[in-house]
Amino acid sequence: IPVDVFDLVIFGGTGDLARRKILPGLYRRFLAGQMPAESRIIGAARGELSEAEYREQVRAAIAEFVPKARQDTAIEGFLSRLQYVAIDATGTNGWAQLKGLMRENVVRAFYFSVAPGLFGDIAQRLSEHGIADAWSRIVVEKPFGRDLASARALNAVLARHFNETQIYRIDHYLGKETVQNLMAVRFANILFEPLWKAEYIDHVQITVAETVGVNGRGAYYDKSGAMRDMVQNHLMQLLCLIAMEPPYHFDPDAVRDEKLKVIRALKPVPPEDIVRGQYGPGKDEPGYLVHAENPASRTESYIALKVQISNWRWQGVPFYLRTGKRLRARASEIAITFKQPPHAIFDDASGWHENVLVIRLQPNEGMNLMVMIKEPGPGGMRLMQVPLDMSFADAIEDAEDVPDAYERLIMDVIRGNQTLFMRGDEVEAAWAWTDPIIEGWEARGDRPQVYDPGSSGPEDALMLMHRDGRRWREIR
Ligand code: NAD
Repeated sequence: IPVDVFDLVIFGGTGDLARRKILPGLYRRFLAGQMPAESRIIGAARGELSEAEYREQVRAAIAEFVPKARQDTAIEGFLSRLQYVAIDATGTNGWAQLKGLMRENVVRAFYFSVAPGLFGDIAQRLSEHGIADAWSRIVVEKPFGRDLASARALNAVLARHFNETQIYRIDHYLGKETVQNLMAVRFANILFEPLWKAEYIDHVQITVAETVGVNGRGAYYDKSGAMRDMVQNHLMQLLCLIAMEPPYHFDPDAVRDEKLKVIRALKPVPPEDIVRGQYGPGKDEPGYLVHAENPASRTESYIALKVQISNWRWQGVPFYLRTGKRLRARASEIAITFKQPPHAIFDDASGWHENVLVIRLQPNEGMNLMVMIKEPGPGGMRLMQVPLDMSFADAIEDAEDVPDAYERLIMDVIRGNQTLFMRGDEVEAAWAWTDPIIEGWEARGDRPQVYDPGSSGPEDALMLMHRDGRRWREIR
Protein backbone atom coordinates (compact mmCIF):
# COMPACT_ATOMS: atom_id res chain seq x y z
CA ILE A 1 0.00 0.00 0.00
CA PRO A 2 1.58 3.34 -0.97
CA VAL A 3 2.21 5.93 1.71
CA ASP A 4 2.34 9.71 1.60
CA VAL A 5 5.59 11.61 1.15
CA PHE A 6 7.36 11.79 4.50
CA ASP A 7 10.31 13.21 6.41
CA LEU A 8 11.45 10.74 9.06
CA VAL A 9 13.88 12.09 11.63
CA ILE A 10 15.67 9.41 13.63
CA PHE A 11 17.00 10.77 16.90
CA GLY A 12 19.73 8.29 17.74
CA GLY A 13 20.23 7.65 14.01
CA THR A 14 23.76 6.31 14.66
CA GLY A 15 22.75 4.02 17.52
CA ASP A 16 22.44 0.26 17.75
CA LEU A 17 18.68 0.07 17.17
CA ALA A 18 18.83 2.40 14.17
CA ARG A 19 21.65 0.36 12.63
CA ARG A 20 20.16 -3.07 13.29
CA LYS A 21 16.45 -2.49 12.75
CA ILE A 22 15.20 0.93 11.71
CA LEU A 23 17.51 1.73 8.76
CA PRO A 24 17.64 -1.82 7.32
CA GLY A 25 13.83 -1.92 7.64
CA LEU A 26 13.47 1.37 5.80
CA TYR A 27 15.80 0.11 3.10
CA ARG A 28 13.60 -2.95 2.57
CA ARG A 29 10.52 -0.72 2.31
CA PHE A 30 12.42 1.39 -0.20
CA LEU A 31 13.16 -1.73 -2.27
CA ALA A 32 9.49 -2.67 -2.04
CA GLY A 33 8.63 0.67 -3.64
CA GLN A 34 7.03 2.04 -0.49
CA MET A 35 9.11 5.15 -0.15
CA PRO A 36 7.73 7.92 -2.34
CA ALA A 37 10.40 9.73 -4.35
CA GLU A 38 10.33 12.93 -2.33
CA SER A 39 10.65 11.22 1.06
CA ARG A 40 13.71 11.72 3.24
CA ILE A 41 15.32 10.13 6.25
CA ILE A 42 17.25 12.45 8.53
CA GLY A 43 19.65 10.94 11.03
CA ALA A 44 20.01 13.13 14.12
CA ALA A 45 22.54 12.14 16.74
CA ARG A 46 25.34 13.41 18.89
CA GLY A 47 28.37 12.73 16.68
CA GLU A 48 29.75 15.38 14.30
CA LEU A 49 29.41 13.60 10.95
CA SER A 50 29.22 14.86 7.40
CA GLU A 51 26.37 13.68 5.25
CA ALA A 52 28.78 11.48 3.28
CA GLU A 53 30.10 9.90 6.47
CA TYR A 54 26.59 9.17 7.69
CA ARG A 55 25.65 7.56 4.39
CA GLU A 56 28.71 5.32 4.63
CA GLN A 57 27.70 4.27 8.16
CA VAL A 58 24.26 3.37 6.90
CA ARG A 59 25.70 1.49 3.92
CA ALA A 60 27.76 -0.57 6.37
CA ALA A 61 24.71 -1.23 8.58
CA ILE A 62 22.75 -2.49 5.60
CA ALA A 63 25.63 -4.70 4.49
CA GLU A 64 25.69 -6.18 8.01
CA PHE A 65 21.98 -6.53 8.77
CA VAL A 66 20.17 -7.07 5.47
CA PRO A 67 20.44 -10.58 3.93
CA LYS A 68 22.91 -10.61 1.03
CA ALA A 69 20.21 -11.61 -1.46
CA ARG A 70 18.34 -8.38 -0.70
CA GLN A 71 21.32 -6.12 -1.12
CA ASP A 72 20.96 -4.37 -4.38
CA THR A 73 22.49 -1.73 -6.59
CA ALA A 74 19.45 0.35 -5.60
CA ILE A 75 21.32 1.11 -2.38
CA GLU A 76 22.68 4.32 -3.95
CA GLY A 77 19.13 5.54 -4.49
CA PHE A 78 18.29 4.80 -0.88
CA LEU A 79 21.41 6.50 0.49
CA SER A 80 20.66 9.60 -1.55
CA ARG A 81 17.52 10.07 0.59
CA LEU A 82 19.59 10.32 3.77
CA GLN A 83 20.65 13.48 5.51
CA TYR A 84 22.36 14.05 8.84
CA VAL A 85 22.14 16.64 11.59
CA ALA A 86 24.46 16.68 14.59
CA ILE A 87 22.16 17.55 17.44
CA ASP A 88 22.19 17.75 21.20
CA ALA A 89 18.94 16.59 22.76
CA THR A 90 19.68 18.43 25.98
CA GLY A 91 21.26 21.57 24.49
CA THR A 92 20.85 24.00 21.61
CA ASN A 93 23.22 22.56 19.03
CA GLY A 94 21.60 21.44 15.77
CA TRP A 95 17.99 22.46 16.41
CA ALA A 96 17.93 25.48 14.11
CA GLN A 97 19.45 23.36 11.35
CA LEU A 98 16.80 20.67 11.85
CA LYS A 99 14.03 23.22 11.74
CA GLY A 100 15.49 24.59 8.49
CA LEU A 101 15.21 21.14 6.92
CA MET A 102 11.54 20.66 7.72
CA ARG A 103 9.12 21.01 4.82
CA GLU A 104 5.49 22.12 4.81
CA ASN A 105 2.65 19.74 3.98
CA VAL A 106 4.70 16.59 4.34
CA VAL A 107 4.15 13.87 6.96
CA ARG A 108 6.72 14.40 9.67
CA ALA A 109 7.75 11.59 11.97
CA PHE A 110 10.28 11.82 14.78
CA TYR A 111 11.62 8.50 15.98
CA PHE A 112 13.00 8.75 19.53
CA SER A 113 15.64 6.00 19.32
CA VAL A 114 17.65 7.38 22.22
CA ALA A 115 17.92 6.68 25.95
CA PRO A 116 14.50 7.17 27.63
CA GLY A 117 15.94 9.95 29.79
CA LEU A 118 16.03 12.12 26.62
CA PHE A 119 12.40 11.60 25.46
CA GLY A 120 11.09 14.60 27.40
CA ASP A 121 13.97 16.89 26.30
CA ILE A 122 13.43 16.09 22.65
CA ALA A 123 9.64 16.57 22.84
CA GLN A 124 10.17 19.93 24.48
CA ARG A 125 12.73 21.13 21.96
CA LEU A 126 10.61 20.05 19.00
CA SER A 127 7.83 22.13 20.47
CA GLU A 128 10.03 25.15 21.25
CA HIS A 129 11.33 25.20 17.69
CA GLY A 130 7.85 25.04 16.24
CA ILE A 131 8.44 21.65 14.61
CA ALA A 132 5.74 19.90 16.65
CA ASP A 133 2.80 20.87 14.47
CA ALA A 134 -0.29 18.96 13.38
CA TRP A 135 1.74 17.12 10.70
CA SER A 136 4.13 15.73 13.29
CA ARG A 137 4.14 12.32 14.91
CA ILE A 138 6.54 10.95 17.46
CA VAL A 139 7.61 7.34 17.87
CA VAL A 140 8.69 6.45 21.38
CA GLU A 141 10.88 3.43 22.10
CA LYS A 142 10.83 1.21 25.13
CA PRO A 143 11.16 1.31 28.09
CA PHE A 144 8.19 3.55 28.72
CA GLY A 145 8.90 4.29 32.37
CA ARG A 146 10.10 1.92 35.07
CA ASP A 147 6.98 2.14 37.25
CA LEU A 148 3.61 3.84 37.28
CA ALA A 149 4.93 7.16 38.58
CA SER A 150 7.64 7.51 35.92
CA ALA A 151 5.30 6.38 33.12
CA ARG A 152 2.74 8.96 34.23
CA ALA A 153 5.39 11.65 34.34
CA LEU A 154 6.56 10.74 30.83
CA ASN A 155 3.00 10.70 29.49
CA ALA A 156 2.48 14.12 31.04
CA VAL A 157 5.62 15.59 29.43
CA LEU A 158 4.69 14.23 26.01
CA ALA A 159 1.08 15.40 26.40
CA ARG A 160 2.32 18.95 26.96
CA HIS A 161 3.60 19.06 23.39
CA PHE A 162 1.64 16.41 21.46
CA ASN A 163 -1.89 15.01 21.28
CA GLU A 164 -2.35 11.33 22.03
CA THR A 165 -3.14 10.83 18.30
CA GLN A 166 0.42 11.97 17.51
CA ILE A 167 2.18 9.63 19.97
CA TYR A 168 3.24 6.16 18.79
CA ARG A 169 4.54 4.05 21.71
CA ILE A 170 6.25 1.16 20.03
CA ASP A 171 6.11 -2.48 21.13
CA HIS A 172 7.69 -4.40 18.30
CA TYR A 173 5.93 -7.61 19.37
CA LEU A 174 2.73 -6.08 18.00
CA GLY A 175 4.40 -5.66 14.60
CA LYS A 176 5.03 -9.37 14.20
CA GLU A 177 3.12 -11.00 11.39
CA THR A 178 1.91 -13.86 13.55
CA VAL A 179 0.63 -11.59 16.28
CA GLN A 180 -1.58 -9.85 13.76
CA ASN A 181 -2.49 -13.20 12.30
CA LEU A 182 -3.75 -14.17 15.75
CA MET A 183 -6.33 -11.40 15.48
CA ALA A 184 -7.30 -12.53 11.98
CA VAL A 185 -7.71 -16.13 13.11
CA ARG A 186 -9.76 -15.11 16.13
CA PHE A 187 -12.04 -12.56 14.56
CA ALA A 188 -12.33 -13.55 10.89
CA ASN A 189 -13.38 -17.16 11.54
CA ILE A 190 -16.50 -18.51 13.15
CA LEU A 191 -14.60 -21.61 14.29
CA PHE A 192 -12.60 -20.23 17.20
CA GLU A 193 -14.55 -17.51 18.92
CA PRO A 194 -17.35 -19.77 20.28
CA LEU A 195 -14.65 -21.89 21.99
CA TRP A 196 -12.59 -18.93 23.18
CA LYS A 197 -13.61 -18.94 26.84
CA ALA A 198 -13.38 -20.66 30.18
CA GLU A 199 -15.89 -23.33 29.22
CA TYR A 200 -13.55 -24.76 26.55
CA ILE A 201 -10.06 -23.48 27.31
CA ASP A 202 -8.05 -25.17 30.04
CA HIS A 203 -5.14 -22.75 30.19
CA VAL A 204 -2.82 -20.51 28.17
CA GLN A 205 0.98 -20.50 28.15
CA ILE A 206 3.05 -17.58 26.90
CA THR A 207 6.78 -18.17 26.60
CA VAL A 208 9.54 -15.83 25.48
CA ALA A 209 12.82 -17.67 25.89
CA GLU A 210 16.20 -16.28 24.91
CA THR A 211 19.55 -18.06 24.70
CA VAL A 212 21.63 -14.93 25.17
CA GLY A 213 22.63 -13.59 28.58
CA VAL A 214 22.87 -9.97 29.58
CA ASN A 215 26.59 -9.60 28.88
CA GLY A 216 27.40 -6.28 27.31
CA ARG A 217 24.39 -4.53 28.80
CA GLY A 218 24.33 -6.21 32.21
CA ALA A 219 24.72 -3.08 34.29
CA TYR A 220 21.76 -1.51 32.47
CA TYR A 221 19.63 -4.69 32.63
CA ASP A 222 20.30 -5.11 36.32
CA LYS A 223 18.22 -2.01 37.04
CA SER A 224 15.16 -3.50 35.33
CA GLY A 225 14.97 -7.32 35.25
CA ALA A 226 12.63 -9.62 33.35
CA MET A 227 9.40 -8.31 34.86
CA ARG A 228 10.00 -4.73 33.75
CA ASP A 229 11.93 -5.51 30.59
CA MET A 230 9.59 -8.16 29.13
CA VAL A 231 6.41 -8.91 31.08
CA GLN A 232 5.02 -5.41 31.65
CA ASN A 233 5.17 -4.70 27.93
CA HIS A 234 5.65 -7.59 25.49
CA LEU A 235 4.05 -10.52 27.32
CA MET A 236 1.28 -8.24 28.55
CA GLN A 237 0.48 -7.19 24.98
CA LEU A 238 0.33 -10.80 23.83
CA LEU A 239 -1.94 -11.67 26.75
CA CYS A 240 -4.25 -8.79 25.83
CA LEU A 241 -4.63 -9.92 22.23
CA ILE A 242 -5.61 -13.41 23.36
CA ALA A 243 -7.91 -12.33 26.16
CA MET A 244 -9.64 -9.23 24.77
CA GLU A 245 -13.26 -9.12 23.70
CA PRO A 246 -13.91 -8.67 19.97
CA PRO A 247 -13.61 -4.93 19.23
CA TYR A 248 -16.58 -3.45 17.35
CA HIS A 249 -14.25 -2.57 14.49
CA PHE A 250 -10.57 -3.00 13.64
CA ASP A 251 -9.96 0.57 14.61
CA PRO A 252 -7.15 1.89 16.84
CA ASP A 253 -9.23 3.02 19.78
CA ALA A 254 -11.71 0.15 19.56
CA VAL A 255 -8.84 -2.36 19.77
CA ARG A 256 -7.01 -0.47 22.51
CA ASP A 257 -10.17 -0.01 24.59
CA GLU A 258 -10.60 -3.80 24.67
CA LYS A 259 -6.94 -4.38 25.57
CA LEU A 260 -7.20 -1.85 28.38
CA LYS A 261 -10.21 -3.69 29.86
CA VAL A 262 -8.14 -6.88 30.03
CA ILE A 263 -5.27 -5.16 31.84
CA ARG A 264 -7.67 -3.62 34.33
CA ALA A 265 -9.21 -7.03 34.99
CA LEU A 266 -5.88 -8.68 35.89
CA LYS A 267 -5.89 -9.95 39.46
CA PRO A 268 -3.02 -9.15 41.79
CA VAL A 269 -0.54 -12.04 41.75
CA PRO A 270 0.16 -13.71 45.12
CA PRO A 271 3.81 -14.55 45.94
CA GLU A 272 3.23 -18.30 45.55
CA ASP A 273 2.30 -17.73 41.88
CA ILE A 274 5.61 -16.03 41.04
CA VAL A 275 8.96 -17.70 40.40
CA ARG A 276 12.02 -15.58 39.76
CA GLY A 277 15.32 -16.96 38.56
CA GLN A 278 18.85 -15.83 37.85
CA TYR A 279 21.25 -17.81 35.65
CA GLY A 280 24.30 -19.10 37.45
CA PRO A 281 27.77 -19.69 36.00
CA GLY A 282 28.21 -22.47 33.44
CA LYS A 283 31.17 -24.73 32.74
CA ASP A 284 33.13 -22.12 30.83
CA GLU A 285 31.08 -19.02 31.33
CA PRO A 286 30.38 -16.55 34.07
CA GLY A 287 26.88 -16.22 35.45
CA TYR A 288 24.48 -13.34 35.80
CA LEU A 289 26.19 -11.75 38.79
CA VAL A 290 29.39 -11.24 36.79
CA HIS A 291 27.52 -10.04 33.69
CA ALA A 292 25.53 -7.60 35.83
CA GLU A 293 28.73 -6.40 37.53
CA ASN A 294 26.82 -6.66 40.78
CA PRO A 295 27.72 -9.59 43.08
CA ALA A 296 24.79 -8.83 45.39
CA SER A 297 22.18 -8.48 42.63
CA ARG A 298 18.67 -9.77 43.31
CA THR A 299 17.43 -8.88 39.83
CA GLU A 300 15.68 -11.68 37.94
CA SER A 301 16.86 -12.81 34.52
CA TYR A 302 13.89 -15.20 34.45
CA ILE A 303 10.34 -14.96 35.66
CA ALA A 304 7.31 -17.24 35.57
CA LEU A 305 3.88 -16.12 36.75
CA LYS A 306 0.42 -17.56 36.99
CA VAL A 307 -1.94 -14.77 35.98
CA GLN A 308 -5.71 -14.71 36.33
CA ILE A 309 -8.22 -12.42 34.67
CA SER A 310 -11.32 -11.58 36.66
CA ASN A 311 -14.09 -11.41 34.09
CA TRP A 312 -16.80 -13.75 32.82
CA ARG A 313 -14.90 -15.06 29.83
CA TRP A 314 -11.77 -16.15 31.68
CA GLN A 315 -13.05 -17.18 35.10
CA GLY A 316 -10.70 -19.89 36.43
CA VAL A 317 -8.46 -20.04 33.32
CA PRO A 318 -4.82 -19.52 34.29
CA PHE A 319 -2.44 -17.72 31.95
CA TYR A 320 1.06 -19.00 32.66
CA LEU A 321 3.70 -16.49 31.56
CA ARG A 322 7.44 -17.10 31.49
CA THR A 323 10.41 -15.34 30.01
CA GLY A 324 14.11 -15.56 30.61
CA LYS A 325 17.63 -15.21 29.38
CA ARG A 326 20.35 -17.80 28.84
CA LEU A 327 17.79 -20.57 28.37
CA ARG A 328 17.99 -23.75 26.30
CA ALA A 329 16.59 -22.30 23.06
CA ARG A 330 15.40 -19.08 21.52
CA ALA A 331 11.68 -19.60 21.29
CA SER A 332 8.62 -17.41 21.65
CA GLU A 333 5.19 -18.92 21.51
CA ILE A 334 1.67 -18.76 22.79
CA ALA A 335 -0.07 -22.08 23.39
CA ILE A 336 -3.79 -22.29 24.06
CA THR A 337 -4.76 -25.66 25.48
CA PHE A 338 -8.40 -26.71 25.13
CA LYS A 339 -10.31 -28.88 27.58
CA GLN A 340 -11.18 -32.54 27.18
CA PRO A 341 -14.34 -33.46 25.31
CA PRO A 342 -17.17 -33.81 27.85
CA HIS A 343 -17.24 -37.58 27.60
CA ALA A 344 -14.42 -39.92 26.57
CA ILE A 345 -15.54 -42.69 24.21
CA PHE A 346 -12.03 -43.98 23.55
CA ASP A 347 -10.19 -45.82 26.29
CA ASP A 348 -7.20 -44.48 28.18
CA ALA A 349 -4.74 -46.38 26.03
CA SER A 350 -5.97 -44.74 22.83
CA GLY A 351 -3.27 -42.06 22.93
CA TRP A 352 -5.58 -39.07 23.39
CA HIS A 353 -4.09 -35.56 23.80
CA GLU A 354 -5.69 -32.15 24.23
CA ASN A 355 -6.24 -29.82 21.29
CA VAL A 356 -3.63 -27.08 21.42
CA LEU A 357 -3.43 -23.95 19.29
CA VAL A 358 0.24 -23.00 19.06
CA ILE A 359 1.15 -19.54 17.85
CA ARG A 360 4.85 -19.36 17.24
CA LEU A 361 6.52 -15.96 17.09
CA GLN A 362 10.11 -17.10 16.69
CA PRO A 363 11.83 -18.85 15.17
CA ASN A 364 9.64 -19.98 12.23
CA GLU A 365 6.67 -17.70 12.76
CA GLY A 366 3.46 -19.61 12.23
CA MET A 367 0.41 -21.26 13.74
CA ASN A 368 -0.51 -24.86 14.30
CA LEU A 369 -3.70 -26.36 15.61
CA MET A 370 -2.99 -29.74 17.15
CA VAL A 371 -5.93 -32.07 16.47
CA MET A 372 -6.58 -35.76 17.09
CA ILE A 373 -7.08 -38.20 14.23
CA LYS A 374 -7.04 -41.95 13.94
CA GLU A 375 -3.60 -43.46 13.46
CA PRO A 376 -3.77 -44.91 9.96
CA GLY A 377 -3.53 -48.68 9.61
CA PRO A 378 -5.15 -51.81 10.98
CA GLY A 379 -4.02 -51.37 14.61
CA GLY A 380 -7.48 -50.65 16.02
CA MET A 381 -8.69 -47.26 17.26
CA ARG A 382 -5.38 -45.66 18.10
CA LEU A 383 -5.36 -41.87 18.12
CA MET A 384 -2.58 -39.58 17.00
CA GLN A 385 -2.01 -35.85 17.30
CA VAL A 386 -1.33 -34.03 14.02
CA PRO A 387 -0.78 -30.33 13.36
CA LEU A 388 -3.15 -28.42 11.13
CA ASP A 389 -0.59 -26.00 9.77
CA MET A 390 -1.77 -22.42 9.40
CA SER A 391 1.70 -20.98 8.81
CA PHE A 392 1.76 -17.98 6.59
CA ALA A 393 5.13 -19.00 5.16
CA ASP A 394 3.39 -21.67 3.09
CA ALA A 395 0.43 -19.49 2.23
CA ILE A 396 2.40 -16.78 0.49
CA GLU A 397 4.97 -17.13 -2.22
CA ASP A 398 8.02 -15.53 -0.70
CA ALA A 399 8.30 -15.50 3.08
CA GLU A 400 11.45 -13.37 2.72
CA ASP A 401 9.19 -10.55 1.58
CA VAL A 402 7.25 -10.52 4.84
CA PRO A 403 8.21 -7.24 6.47
CA ASP A 404 10.02 -7.27 9.78
CA ALA A 405 8.08 -5.93 12.78
CA TYR A 406 9.92 -2.58 12.77
CA GLU A 407 9.42 -1.81 9.11
CA ARG A 408 5.73 -2.60 9.31
CA LEU A 409 5.30 -0.38 12.37
CA ILE A 410 7.24 2.52 10.85
CA MET A 411 4.98 2.41 7.79
CA ASP A 412 1.96 2.43 10.11
CA VAL A 413 3.32 5.62 11.66
CA ILE A 414 3.58 7.24 8.22
CA ARG A 415 0.03 6.09 7.40
CA GLY A 416 -1.19 7.44 10.74
CA ASN A 417 -2.52 4.09 11.96
CA GLN A 418 -2.16 3.66 15.74
CA THR A 419 -3.83 0.24 16.07
CA LEU A 420 -0.55 -1.56 16.83
CA PHE A 421 0.81 1.06 19.23
CA MET A 422 0.18 1.31 22.95
CA ARG A 423 -1.99 4.10 24.23
CA GLY A 424 -0.91 6.07 27.30
CA ASP A 425 -3.65 4.69 29.55
CA GLU A 426 -2.75 1.11 28.55
CA VAL A 427 0.87 1.58 29.56
CA GLU A 428 -0.15 3.14 32.88
CA ALA A 429 -2.63 0.33 33.62
CA ALA A 430 0.09 -2.23 32.90
CA TRP A 431 2.42 -0.53 35.39
CA ALA A 432 -0.38 -0.25 37.94
CA TRP A 433 -0.63 -4.07 37.85
CA THR A 434 3.17 -4.60 37.77
CA ASP A 435 4.21 -2.23 40.56
CA PRO A 436 2.71 -4.11 43.56
CA ILE A 437 4.19 -7.38 42.29
CA ILE A 438 7.69 -5.89 42.24
CA GLU A 439 7.16 -4.01 45.50
CA GLY A 440 6.04 -7.29 47.06
CA TRP A 441 9.23 -9.19 46.35
CA GLU A 442 11.37 -6.19 47.20
CA ALA A 443 9.65 -5.81 50.59
CA ARG A 444 10.03 -9.54 51.30
CA GLY A 445 13.69 -9.43 50.23
CA ASP A 446 13.14 -12.42 47.91
CA ARG A 447 16.16 -13.78 46.09
CA PRO A 448 15.79 -15.30 42.65
CA GLN A 449 16.45 -19.02 42.35
CA VAL A 450 19.67 -19.85 40.50
CA TYR A 451 19.28 -21.91 37.30
CA ASP A 452 21.82 -23.51 35.00
CA PRO A 453 22.61 -21.61 31.81
CA GLY A 454 21.26 -23.55 28.83
CA SER A 455 18.49 -25.12 30.92
CA SER A 456 14.75 -24.45 30.80
CA GLY A 457 14.83 -22.27 33.91
CA PRO A 458 14.55 -22.70 37.68
CA GLU A 459 13.10 -25.87 39.24
CA ASP A 460 10.40 -23.95 41.05
CA ALA A 461 8.95 -22.84 37.74
CA LEU A 462 8.20 -26.48 36.92
CA MET A 463 6.39 -26.79 40.23
CA LEU A 464 4.23 -23.76 39.42
CA MET A 465 2.59 -25.90 36.75
CA HIS A 466 2.93 -29.36 38.33
CA ARG A 467 0.95 -28.40 41.38
CA ASP A 468 -1.95 -27.53 39.05
CA GLY A 469 -1.58 -30.87 37.25
CA ARG A 470 -0.14 -29.20 34.14
CA ARG A 471 3.19 -29.00 32.36
CA TRP A 472 5.12 -26.34 30.52
CA ARG A 473 5.66 -27.03 26.86
CA GLU A 474 9.25 -27.87 26.05
CA ILE A 475 11.45 -24.92 25.10
CA ARG A 476 12.94 -25.84 21.72
P1 NAD B 1 22.62 3.47 21.54
O1 NAD B 1 23.31 3.83 22.80
O2 NAD B 1 23.25 2.47 20.64
O3 NAD B 1 22.41 4.79 20.67
C1 NAD B 1 22.05 6.01 21.24
C2 NAD B 1 21.92 7.08 20.18
O4 NAD B 1 21.51 8.28 20.83
C3 NAD B 1 23.20 7.42 19.44
O5 NAD B 1 22.88 7.68 18.09
C4 NAD B 1 23.68 8.72 20.12
O6 NAD B 1 24.41 9.58 19.26
C5 NAD B 1 22.35 9.35 20.45
N1 NAD B 1 22.45 10.28 21.58
C6 NAD B 1 22.90 10.04 22.83
N2 NAD B 1 22.85 11.16 23.58
C7 NAD B 1 22.35 12.14 22.79
C8 NAD B 1 22.07 13.51 22.98
N3 NAD B 1 22.27 14.13 24.14
N4 NAD B 1 21.56 14.19 21.93
C9 NAD B 1 21.33 13.59 20.74
N5 NAD B 1 21.59 12.31 20.51
C10 NAD B 1 22.09 11.57 21.51
O7 NAD B 1 21.13 3.06 21.94
P2 NAD B 1 20.16 2.02 21.22
O8 NAD B 1 20.51 0.66 21.66
O9 NAD B 1 20.11 2.30 19.77
O10 NAD B 1 18.76 2.35 21.91
C11 NAD B 1 17.97 3.47 21.58
C12 NAD B 1 16.60 3.35 22.22
O11 NAD B 1 15.95 2.19 21.73
C13 NAD B 1 16.62 3.20 23.74
O12 NAD B 1 15.48 3.81 24.27
C14 NAD B 1 16.51 1.70 23.93
O13 NAD B 1 15.93 1.38 25.18
C15 NAD B 1 15.59 1.34 22.80
N6 NAD B 1 15.68 -0.04 22.35
C16 NAD B 1 16.85 -0.53 21.85
C17 NAD B 1 16.89 -1.84 21.41
C18 NAD B 1 18.15 -2.40 20.82
O14 NAD B 1 18.12 -3.55 20.42
N7 NAD B 1 19.24 -1.66 20.74
C19 NAD B 1 15.77 -2.66 21.49
C20 NAD B 1 14.59 -2.13 21.99
C21 NAD B 1 14.56 -0.82 22.41
